[in-house]
Amino acid sequence: MRLARRRALVGLGAVALAPKAVAREASVPDLALYQAIRDEGLKRSQAMAHAESLVDDVGARLMGSPSMRRAYDWALARMRTLGLSDPRLEPIGPFGLSWRQTLAWARMIAPDQAQFAAAASPWSVATRGAVEGEAVAVRLETDEDLRRFKGRLAGKVVLLGAPTASPADGPAVVRHSDEQVSRGEAAEAVRAYYRTVVERRARQGREGLFKARRNAFLAAEGVRAVVIDGGAAAPGAMVVDGSELGGRPWLSAERPSFPALYLDGQAYARCWRLAQAGAAPRLALEIATEEGDPNEPGYNVVAELPGWDPALKTQVVLAGAHLDSWAAGAGAADNAAGVAATLEAVRILRAVGAKPRRTIRVVLYGGEEQGLYGSEAYARRRLGWIPRSTAPEQMALPVEGRRAKVGPLRKGPEYEGFSVAFNLDGGSGRIRGVFTGGNPALAELYRAWIAPLKDLGVLAVHDGPHWPADQSTFTEIGLPGISFLQDPLDYDSRAHHASLDTLERLSSADLAQAASVLAIFLINSADSDARAPRP
Ligand SMILES: [Zn+2]
Repeated sequence: MRLARRRALVGLGAVALAPKAVAREASVPDLALYQAIRDEGLKRSQAMAHAESLVDDVGARLMGSPSMRRAYDWALARMRTLGLSDPRLEPIGPFGLSWRQTLAWARMIAPDQAQFAAAASPWSVATRGAVEGEAVAVRLETDEDLRRFKGRLAGKVVLLGAPTASPADGPAVVRHSDEQVSRGEAAEAVRAYYRTVVERRARQGREGLFKARRNAFLAAEGVRAVVIDGGAAAPGAMVVDGSELGGRPWLSAERPSFPALYLDGQAYARCWRLAQAGAAPRLALEIATEEGDPNEPGYNVVAELPGWDPALKTQVVLAGAHLDSWAAGAGAADNAAGVAATLEAVRILRAVGAKPRRTIRVVLYGGEEQGLYGSEAYARRRLGWIPRSTAPEQMALPVEGRRAKVGPLRKGPEYEGFSVAFNLDGGSGRIRGVFTGGNPALAELYRAWIAPLKDLGVLAVHDGPHWPADQSTFTEIGLPGISFLQDPLDYDSRAHHASLDTLERLSSADLAQAASVLAIFLINSADSDARAPRP
């Protein structure tokens, strides 16, 4: 069998090997290897164990927080246990304020007494003990609004913006049918979302600049606190990602000076209705925080399964997922799931004795949630970068890669030797398809790779874009960056950046499937004669 023979040959010493000895046509799947991976990955999966340890022991992993430091240590220890080579932290530069919430509560004290679910907006300043004030309903969407409210908000608890209606209709847990996947409807839904993101980019810079003026206005008014609606997802899921305030509050220059607190959506809507009806509701609230280094460094956690083929081992196949999360839940679907499946994929490869010809490198990125910082830093150091506009409106865009290109690609030392970057960041759902991001030759090759995976539900390769995540960093500089179409499960309704993103959002069987499929893509990419075709 191929695996046994490969081990024996490697045992004799890789230098003596002619690489052609185990060469195979890239487009012809090695079915014995597929079967070995499926046996190990589906019957003896450790994916849920990886996830449970990260989600329950370490918990939420807000960038720069003490928990994120624990997560780096957790990842290094896991990589060591899995037998990966040279687990290490690679700096991505100073990130910002080391911060965590130690206490956040809110309750209504008039006209009724009610206890509400609440969370501090990430990097919010603390209150000085408990504070209270009249809650006022305020729409601040234009500079005219700022003029209209001038002098009226001192000492108030500002309800910032009308409540969002919860998407109450439709099922909370979604799986794509085989037909939706093979007819392309599932991917089309992703593409439609992607188009809204592209459209939003056009106004996001202007919005960012306005939010900065609005935050400065609220601070100058002397508001007691700002309260933000957490109700963008299913009822009971509080979404807490700081996007309503905008800017980069982890940097001292952009951190609002007023306390900001998220309220559960139903509570927020009740307060808003009462304020609009003239009932003058009063809120009491408190935020306590623990703050450390204002320039806390950020890291990617990196380790390898080294390639054995002397001619190919300097070429890299990247398996990536982001380690950081928001802090309202425990970052389970976003993205302990991707971390667990990625670590599990390399565990499977080691367990079946697969010896990659190219080097498989695992990178667990930091700072994804604030704008793909980890993958940007990885690419800039090793692969290359494109200078970006520093115009104020462009600087207000949340992701560096979205800023206008202002120069040609400057290649880094590993650009030529790079093969392909995989990224798993779509929650806990099983893999249903692959996005190749504008790379027809690669799409063609992957269609051959997934043909034996139909029974696992992997049915489609789409050569269109996915939503912007860490794989975009690679496609932006002309390299193959791959993401996956996954069953959404309750990612959008309950998990995404929300308080309900806990271990309960994860499916053990789905994670096992995703890890097995990823393992197959990794070893196929590592062993093909040719490096992954470039767009
Ligand atoms: Zn994510």
